[in-house]
Amino acid sequence: MTAPRLGELNPPPRILLGPGPSNVDPRVYRAMLAPVLGHLDPDFLQIMDDVQVLLRRLFQTSNRLTFPVSATGSAGMETAMCNCLEPGDTAIITDAGYFGARLVEMARRTGAEVIALESRHGTAVEPQQARDAARGKKIKVLGVTHGETSTGVAHNLADFRQVADECDALLVVDAVATVGGMPLKVDEERIDVCFTGSQKCLSAPPGLAPFTAGARAEEAFRQRKTKVTSWYFDLTYIMKYWGGERTYHHTAPISMVYALREALRLIDEEGLEARWERHLRHQRALVAGLEAMGLELLVAPAQRMTTVSAVRVPTGVEDVKIRGRLMEEFNIEIAGGIGELKGRIWRIGTMGSSCTANNVLLLLGALEKCLLEESFKLPPGGGVAAAAQNYAQTPASAAP
Ligand SMILES: *Cc1c(COP(=O)(O)O)cnc(C)c1O
Repeated sequence: MTAPRLGELNPPPRILLGPGPSNVDPRVYRAMLAPVLGHLDPDFLQIMDDVQVLLRRLFQTSNRLTFPVSATGSAGMETAMCNCLEPGDTAIITDAGYFGARLVEMARRTGAEVIALESRHGTAVEPQQARDAARGKKIKVLGVTHGETSTGVAHNLADFRQVADECDALLVVDAVATVGGMPLKVDEERIDVCFTGSQKCLSAPPGLAPFTAGARAEEAFRQRKTKVTSWYFDLTYIMKYWGGERTYHHTAPISMVYALREALRLIDEEGLEARWERHLRHQRALVAGLEAMGLELLVAPAQRMTTVSAVRVPTGVEDVKIRGRLMEEFNIEIAGGIGELKGRIWRIGTMGSSCTANNVLLLLGALEKCLLEESFKLPPGGGVAAAAQNYAQTPASAAP
């Protein structure tokens, strides 16, 4: 018996307003159609150079060691942890939710001692918790999740840099959900190791994890007593390919590197500051709209990410039902909560190409329709009106 022949691939055109992936710009798709070159082809080596120049601009750094890890954001986390840590080291890591906990787990697997600083329910870890934990100990790494995507909480990097200075630790920052969307300057803020993911605020498909490490981190890598336990993520070898020598390490995901190059070119054209401003502007309008609908944000204003907003699922409303309706009727994807927040929050991403007034106004209108049909009481038209008013109040110079 032969299996029935499958139809041509035909995924629906979703509006991606979850915490990643975000919508991909047509220019990025076009770049991916370019012919695949060999990973040591001189023309591809030039493209690698271009990507590194653009990545340094994205991270605001002159770090030599700047390149995309060939895997998703989690691989950026893994690369950071397994190169920075070895048995005998101690690390302090913020754990304000699901992604902080993942970083802790990865750090523990290196054999290092790890102190996890917990905060829950949509609050940030206090820098004082790190200061207290470091007392009397030699700390190798202070790891911070810049934007904790599972709750929408942002950590203030300057505060944690100060603590890292006090205990002479490397500051390692998970900026997977924030680079390209929220202000972050690696050199100016003296971040030792930083990484992101291609599919969040950069709006390329998932598959690459841009990574950078400074001179202090490189020195720490040289001082290691043991080999990095992962072969694939060992920077000593990866940098023989992405560094000056350009010798084979693994076959670079050629088409993804094309995609990243085009996504970074789009960011360059928009300007980093303008892009940060755009994310702030649309998040403000979104929040104004949600609040006018009688919905409540999980996180206090001062601790909010501008790229992912967590809103409480109102009592009497079924999380899965509303998300299902948004997808079926409007082709809109938003996310639910994970871990202990499952069923209790919605996570709305306004990242990269998805972060537009069209999408914010459409989502508010669509969400209102779904909530009204579920008999949730709210002032009709209130969300869209509040967002529109918020946009009207933003100076025209800040318009995207
Ligand atoms: C999405 C995300 C990750 C993981 O990235 P993947 O691409 O899913 O592997 C890590 N950290 C944060 C903060 C994230 O938002």
